[in-house]
Amino acid sequence: MTSNIILAASGLTKEFRGFVAVDGVDLMVRRGSIHALIGPNGAGKTTCFNLLTKFLTPTKGSILYNDEDITSLPPADIALKGLVRSFQISAVFPDLSVLENVRVALQRLRGSSFDFWRSETVLRAHDARALELVDAVGLSEFRHLYASELSYGRKRALEIATTLALEPEMLLLDEPMAGMASGDIERISNLIRQAARERTVLMVEHNLSVVSELCDAITVLAQGRILAEGDYATVSADPRVREAYMGT
Ligand code: ADP
Repeated sequence: MTSNIILAASGLTKEFRGFVAVDGVDLMVRRGSIHALIGPNGAGKTTCFNLLTKFLTPTKGSILYNDEDITSLPPADIALKGLVRSFQISAVFPDLSVLENVRVALQRLRGSSFDFWRSETVLRAHDARALELVDAVGLSEFRHLYASELSYGRKRALEIATTLALEPEMLLLDEPMAGMASGDIERISNLIRQAARERTVLMVEHNLSVVSELCDAITVLAQGRILAEGDYATVSADPRVREAYMGT
């Protein structure tokens, strides 16, 4: 039987030359939830995120994904297990069209041996899936534009499409709303809500109104430690959380 907890970090710690950026964090993410990691600047959110996907190696602690210890796996192997992080805009190829960007991501999912690419059937299946994903993120009418021609918000939508192409079971989003206008925030929120119907989402997010609307579980970090956990009503009423935010 699969456990209710999809991701469990315990005692997660990261030191940078003596400075403890993440200090013994125990994080549990419930399967099917949209879970936010919030906290003031310098709280350790990005470091935590990088530890979970092994872009950084923890100094101490362990990470279980689907009850399997992934602490010593490299990032590519973690992604193959279904725990995928969306990359920042740099991962979108500016000189490829929207559709081509998604095709490239689909290619990455299965590996790209030469023989594989010669298979007409597979190519056609990719084309259909690429169109489906482009449509799902609301970019159908822009599918032949170069990625470089998209607005900022639409680039982020494309980035989510390329991440969804990897068929993640759990999606990690690093500040998906950063720098967005309100129309784009609405669009990406809907997209995340839709993506979360079939998967778990863990996101670092600064925009608290987005977090309150979208997330059913929140972990507040401050100075590398967990300050509070719970739903939005619980954490926002916590005096320690208010103090941490006002202190920035
Ligand atoms: P947040 O994402 O919550 O703003 P970070 O995880 O980026 O916080 O940073 C947490 C702390 O760790 C900060 O004080 C930051 O300066 C420090 N830090 C992050 N990365 C490094 C690094 N590579 N070397 C040294 N200190 C770092």
